[in-house]
Amino acid sequence: MKYSDKNKPAVCMMTQSTCYQGTRKVTPKGILWHSTGANNPRLSRYVQPDDNAKDRAEMIKLIGKNSNGNDWNHEEVQAGLNCWIGKLADGTVSTLQTMPWDYRPWGCGSGSKGSSNDTHIQFEICEDGLTDKAYFDAAYKEACEITAYLCKFYGIDPNGTIKYNGVTVPTILCHADSHTLGLGSNHGDVLQFGFLDLFSVLIKQITLSINNTVIY
Ligand SMILES: [Zn+2]
Repeated sequence: MKYSDKNKPAVCMMTQSTCYQGTRKVTPKGILWHSTGANNPRLSRYVQPDDNAKDRAEMIKLIGKNSNGNDWNHEEVQAGLNCWIGKLADGTVSTLQTMPWDYRPWGCGSGSKGSSNDTHIQFEICEDGLTDKAYFDAAYKEACEITAYLCKFYGIDPNGTIKYNGVTVPTILCHADSHTLGLGSNHGDVLQFGFLDLFSVLIKQITLSINNTVIY
């Protein structure tokens, strides 16, 4: 496993966002994957430190600067994720945690049966132009690693299911799956990014990572 108690993912809490300030705590029971559906693999497009963060200069150096001011650390953005995966300033593909894991994300919207926001930790993968296999592989690996870390941290079985409002929900799913179950808005992510076999290869990778077997 890449991440552990001794090597936690980097943190850039976006406390200026409306979600961070207005959401409530929940008990995480699974992990839900998103991908942005837009061509910009850089984390700086979405993740920036608070204006007055003590470590702002250091974080900008790590993430890169969004000079357009259209990142998600503003009250106008009515959405919020627990973490993001994409390229840091130096091109490395990594995870940045942007809310505590038990803060209810404003991620997948809701459907006829409710919302996976109530139960699942959620992250976005910054998509690129869908032509760079090296980036896809790195983002996929990172998503498996952070999912494995969270499964281990919360004792979540990656092969398991939970019951929510009478619906049997896989512990690991994506936004499109959530919509199919009546627990999210009608979005196609992460399937458009290329994750077409989410419940076999993916779960196996995560399980192997948790068990510290050599993977990838
Ligand atoms: Zn989504």
